Amino acid sequence: MRTCCGCHQTKAAAELQRITLQPCGELRLDGRHKAAGRGVYLCPNAQCLQSALRHKALQRAFGVELPHSVLEEFSRRFLERLRETHVSR
Ligand SMILES: [Zn+2]
Repeated sequence: MRTCCGCHQTKAAAELQRITLQPCGELRLDGRHKAAGRGVYLCPNAQCLQSALRHKALQRAFGVELPHSVLEEFSRRFLERLRETHVSR
């Protein structure tokens, strides 16, 4: 079981989006839950993303400062992923 860093509910890892921090400092959506390194989990919905961003949950979880541009880019891809997931179901 994993905890969403937006709403702090505990869910099965498969129900959550896994996010990893790449060595270059970019955030990566790890769709297959296979990327190395520390993972942070988020429910696949925009509310949990917004809540995590508001509380700087990703910065805290990874222990680094994330530039606004990285967070913006990540949000965009996260929301894109949500749309794709809806289409494929
Ligand atoms: Zn959540």
